[in-house]
Amino acid sequence: MDWGSFPLRGMFFDENENLSELKGVFMVKIKCIVSDICEENGYVVWKDGAKECVLIDPGFSAGRFLDFMASEDLTNVAAIFCTHGHADHIGGINALRERFPEAKIVIGKKDADKLTDSKKNLARHFGINIVFPPADLKLSEAQTELEFAGVKFTAFQTPGHSAGHVVYLLKVDEGQIPVVFAGDLIFYGSVGRTDFFDGNPKALVESIQNVIFSLSDETELFTGHGPATTVGVERRTNPYVREG
Ligand SMILES: [Zn+2]
Repeated sequence: MDWGSFPLRGMFFDENENLSELKGVFMVKIKCIVSDICEENGYVVWKDGAKECVLIDPGFSAGRFLDFMASEDLTNVAAIFCTHGHADHIGGINALRERFPEAKIVIGKKDADKLTDSKKNLARHFGINIVFPPADLKLSEAQTELEFAGVKFTAFQTPGHSAGHVVYLLKVDEGQIPVVFAGDLIFYGSVGRTDFFDGNPKALVESIQNVIFSLSDETELFTGHGPATTVGVERRTNPYVREG
Protein backbone atom coordinates (compact mmCIF):
# COMPACT_ATOMS: atom_id res chain seq x y z
CA MET A 1 0.00 0.00 0.00
CA ASP A 2 1.26 3.42 -0.89
CA TRP A 3 -0.10 6.28 1.15
CA GLY A 4 1.47 9.01 -0.86
CA SER A 5 0.54 8.87 -4.44
CA PHE A 6 -1.98 7.29 -6.63
CA PRO A 7 -0.75 6.26 -9.07
CA LEU A 8 2.96 6.62 -8.66
CA ARG A 9 5.16 6.30 -11.70
CA GLY A 10 8.80 6.56 -12.49
CA MET A 11 11.74 5.31 -10.49
CA PHE A 12 12.55 5.77 -6.86
CA PHE A 13 15.51 7.65 -5.53
CA ASP A 14 18.68 5.75 -5.20
CA GLU A 15 19.22 6.31 -1.53
CA ASN A 16 22.97 6.33 -2.04
CA GLU A 17 22.72 9.22 -4.42
CA ASN A 18 23.75 12.53 -2.92
CA LEU A 19 21.41 15.06 -4.44
CA SER A 20 23.54 18.04 -3.59
CA GLU A 21 26.50 16.61 -5.47
CA LEU A 22 24.21 15.70 -8.31
CA LYS A 23 23.10 19.32 -8.67
CA GLY A 24 26.39 20.82 -7.64
CA VAL A 25 24.93 24.20 -6.74
CA PHE A 26 24.26 24.28 -3.02
CA MET A 27 26.17 25.68 -0.14
CA VAL A 28 23.42 23.84 1.63
CA LYS A 29 23.62 20.08 1.24
CA ILE A 30 20.67 17.79 0.88
CA LYS A 31 20.53 14.04 1.25
CA CYS A 32 17.46 11.96 0.45
CA ILE A 33 16.92 8.93 2.68
CA VAL A 34 14.24 6.45 1.67
CA SER A 35 12.48 4.59 4.49
CA ASP A 36 10.96 1.15 4.41
CA ILE A 37 7.25 0.30 4.33
CA CYS A 38 6.07 3.16 2.08
CA GLU A 39 9.26 4.06 0.20
CA GLU A 40 8.92 7.45 1.81
CA ASN A 41 11.54 10.12 1.05
CA GLY A 42 13.01 11.91 4.05
CA TYR A 43 15.77 14.52 3.81
CA VAL A 44 18.80 15.67 5.74
CA VAL A 45 19.58 19.37 5.13
CA TRP A 46 22.70 21.05 6.42
CA LYS A 47 25.04 23.89 5.74
CA ASP A 48 28.31 22.74 4.24
CA GLY A 49 30.78 22.34 7.10
CA ALA A 50 28.17 22.57 9.90
CA LYS A 51 27.70 19.98 12.65
CA GLU A 52 23.98 20.54 12.89
CA CYS A 53 21.22 19.63 10.47
CA VAL A 54 17.49 19.80 9.85
CA LEU A 55 15.60 16.59 9.13
CA ILE A 56 12.53 16.67 6.93
CA ASP A 57 9.90 13.92 7.08
CA PRO A 58 12.03 11.25 8.78
CA GLY A 59 10.27 7.98 7.97
CA PHE A 60 10.29 4.64 9.76
CA SER A 61 13.96 3.88 9.02
CA ALA A 62 15.43 6.23 11.65
CA GLY A 63 18.67 4.22 11.76
CA ARG A 64 19.46 5.27 8.20
CA PHE A 65 19.30 8.92 9.24
CA LEU A 66 21.56 8.26 12.24
CA ASP A 67 24.04 6.30 10.12
CA PHE A 68 24.15 9.00 7.48
CA MET A 69 24.60 11.76 10.06
CA ALA A 70 27.49 9.84 11.60
CA SER A 71 29.11 9.39 8.20
CA GLU A 72 28.98 13.17 7.62
CA ASP A 73 30.04 14.00 11.18
CA LEU A 74 26.71 15.72 11.86
CA THR A 75 26.32 15.66 15.63
CA ASN A 76 23.02 17.43 16.25
CA VAL A 77 19.50 17.84 14.88
CA ALA A 78 18.19 21.39 15.28
CA ALA A 79 14.71 20.65 14.02
CA ILE A 80 12.50 17.98 12.54
CA PHE A 81 10.19 19.44 9.89
CA CYS A 82 7.06 17.48 9.02
CA THR A 83 5.19 18.25 5.82
CA HIS A 84 2.23 16.48 7.40
CA GLY A 85 1.35 14.04 10.15
CA HIS A 86 0.95 10.71 8.35
CA ALA A 87 2.91 7.94 10.05
CA ASP A 88 5.14 7.18 7.07
CA HIS A 89 6.49 10.76 7.26
CA ILE A 90 6.94 10.93 11.04
CA GLY A 91 7.74 7.30 11.86
CA GLY A 92 11.36 7.99 12.78
CA ILE A 93 10.70 10.82 15.21
CA ASN A 94 10.72 8.80 18.44
CA ALA A 95 14.12 7.24 17.81
CA LEU A 96 15.58 10.52 16.59
CA ARG A 97 14.14 12.56 19.47
CA GLU A 98 15.53 10.06 21.94
CA ARG A 99 18.99 10.70 20.51
CA PHE A 100 18.50 14.46 20.00
CA PRO A 101 16.07 15.59 22.72
CA GLU A 102 16.47 19.28 21.85
CA ALA A 103 15.32 18.84 18.24
CA LYS A 104 12.25 21.02 17.64
CA ILE A 105 9.31 19.30 15.99
CA VAL A 106 7.73 21.61 13.39
CA ILE A 107 4.40 20.82 11.70
CA GLY A 108 1.32 22.57 10.31
CA LYS A 109 -1.14 23.46 13.06
CA LYS A 110 -4.01 21.43 11.60
CA ASP A 111 -1.83 18.31 11.40
CA ALA A 112 -0.26 18.69 14.85
CA ASP A 113 -2.72 16.39 16.59
CA LYS A 114 -1.75 13.56 14.24
CA LEU A 115 1.54 13.31 16.14
CA THR A 116 -0.26 12.16 19.25
CA ASP A 117 -3.16 10.20 17.73
CA SER A 118 -2.44 6.87 16.04
CA LYS A 119 -5.82 6.85 14.32
CA LYS A 120 -5.37 10.27 12.76
CA ASN A 121 -1.77 9.59 11.75
CA LEU A 122 -2.98 6.39 10.02
CA ALA A 123 -0.61 4.10 11.93
CA ARG A 124 -3.60 2.00 12.90
CA HIS A 125 -4.09 1.25 9.21
CA PHE A 126 -1.07 -0.98 9.70
CA GLY A 127 -2.16 -2.27 13.07
CA ILE A 128 0.56 -0.21 14.73
CA ASN A 129 -0.33 1.84 17.77
CA ILE A 130 2.32 4.52 17.55
CA VAL A 131 2.32 8.09 18.83
CA PHE A 132 4.98 10.77 18.95
CA PRO A 133 5.94 13.76 21.08
CA PRO A 134 3.74 16.86 20.65
CA ALA A 135 4.81 19.63 18.28
CA ASP A 136 7.14 22.39 19.47
CA LEU A 137 6.11 24.72 16.68
CA LYS A 138 2.69 24.64 14.99
CA LEU A 139 2.61 26.56 11.73
CA SER A 140 -0.64 28.50 11.34
CA GLU A 141 0.18 31.42 9.04
CA ALA A 142 -0.16 31.19 5.26
CA GLN A 143 3.60 31.69 5.16
CA THR A 144 6.15 31.31 7.98
CA GLU A 145 9.85 32.17 7.90
CA LEU A 146 12.04 29.59 9.67
CA GLU A 147 15.74 29.36 10.43
CA PHE A 148 17.37 26.30 11.96
CA ALA A 149 20.97 25.07 11.81
CA GLY A 150 21.83 28.24 9.89
CA VAL A 151 19.50 27.33 7.03
CA LYS A 152 16.50 29.48 6.10
CA PHE A 153 13.16 28.18 4.90
CA THR A 154 9.71 29.52 4.15
CA ALA A 155 6.84 27.20 5.09
CA PHE A 156 3.61 27.51 3.10
CA GLN A 157 0.19 26.09 4.02
CA THR A 158 -0.79 23.59 1.32
CA PRO A 159 -3.97 21.76 2.41
CA GLY A 160 -5.44 18.97 0.30
CA HIS A 161 -3.64 15.70 1.05
CA SER A 162 -4.28 16.56 4.69
CA ALA A 163 -5.75 19.67 6.28
CA GLY A 164 -2.51 20.88 7.84
CA HIS A 165 -0.09 19.91 5.07
CA VAL A 166 2.75 22.39 4.54
CA VAL A 167 5.70 22.57 2.14
CA TYR A 168 9.11 23.99 2.96
CA LEU A 169 10.92 26.24 0.48
CA LEU A 170 14.66 26.28 1.06
CA LYS A 171 15.87 29.84 0.70
CA VAL A 172 18.89 29.94 -1.57
CA ASP A 173 21.18 32.68 -2.74
CA GLU A 174 20.63 34.47 -6.00
CA GLY A 175 21.70 32.35 -8.94
CA GLN A 176 21.03 29.09 -7.11
CA ILE A 177 18.16 26.81 -7.91
CA PRO A 178 15.29 27.02 -5.40
CA VAL A 179 14.23 23.79 -3.71
CA VAL A 180 10.87 22.83 -2.24
CA PHE A 181 10.30 19.88 0.07
CA ALA A 182 6.85 19.08 -1.19
CA GLY A 183 5.73 16.13 0.95
CA ASP A 184 2.63 14.48 -0.47
CA LEU A 185 1.25 17.54 -2.24
CA ILE A 186 2.64 16.82 -5.68
CA PHE A 187 4.79 14.08 -7.22
CA TYR A 188 6.50 13.47 -10.50
CA GLY A 189 3.48 13.10 -12.81
CA SER A 190 1.05 12.70 -9.96
CA VAL A 191 -0.49 14.30 -6.89
CA GLY A 192 -1.16 13.26 -3.30
CA ARG A 193 -4.18 11.20 -2.34
CA THR A 194 -7.16 13.12 -1.03
CA ASP A 195 -9.32 10.26 0.20
CA PHE A 196 -8.21 10.32 3.83
CA PHE A 197 -10.50 11.81 6.48
CA ASP A 198 -9.22 15.38 6.17
CA GLY A 199 -8.27 15.31 2.49
CA ASN A 200 -9.80 17.73 -0.01
CA PRO A 201 -9.23 17.40 -3.78
CA LYS A 202 -10.23 20.98 -4.58
CA ALA A 203 -7.92 22.36 -1.88
CA LEU A 204 -5.07 20.19 -3.18
CA VAL A 205 -5.33 21.58 -6.70
CA GLU A 206 -5.56 25.14 -5.34
CA SER A 207 -2.50 24.57 -3.14
CA ILE A 208 -0.51 23.40 -6.15
CA GLN A 209 -1.68 26.31 -8.29
CA ASN A 210 -1.24 28.99 -5.63
CA VAL A 211 2.01 27.83 -4.03
CA ILE A 212 3.93 25.45 -6.31
CA PHE A 213 3.03 27.08 -9.62
CA SER A 214 3.87 30.55 -8.23
CA LEU A 215 7.52 29.43 -8.19
CA SER A 216 9.95 29.53 -11.10
CA ASP A 217 10.04 26.63 -13.57
CA GLU A 218 13.55 25.61 -12.52
CA THR A 219 12.51 25.11 -8.88
CA GLU A 220 13.34 21.59 -7.74
CA LEU A 221 10.56 19.63 -6.09
CA PHE A 222 11.87 17.06 -3.62
CA THR A 223 8.78 14.99 -3.04
CA GLY A 224 7.61 12.61 -0.33
CA HIS A 225 7.60 9.58 -2.65
CA GLY A 226 9.30 8.80 -5.95
CA PRO A 227 11.80 10.83 -7.95
CA ALA A 228 12.43 14.56 -7.72
CA THR A 229 10.93 16.79 -10.37
CA THR A 230 10.68 20.49 -11.18
CA VAL A 231 7.93 23.06 -11.19
CA GLY A 232 8.29 23.46 -14.97
CA VAL A 233 7.94 19.75 -15.71
CA GLU A 234 4.81 19.46 -13.58
CA ARG A 235 3.33 22.69 -14.92
CA ARG A 236 3.65 21.34 -18.46
CA THR A 237 2.98 17.64 -18.06
CA ASN A 238 1.29 16.71 -14.77
CA PRO A 239 -2.10 15.31 -15.93
CA TYR A 240 -3.82 16.35 -12.69
CA VAL A 241 -2.85 20.00 -12.67
CA ARG A 242 -1.03 20.98 -15.87
CA GLU A 243 -1.59 24.41 -17.28
CA GLY A 244 -2.73 25.10 -20.83
ZN1 LIG B 1 0.64 11.32 3.53
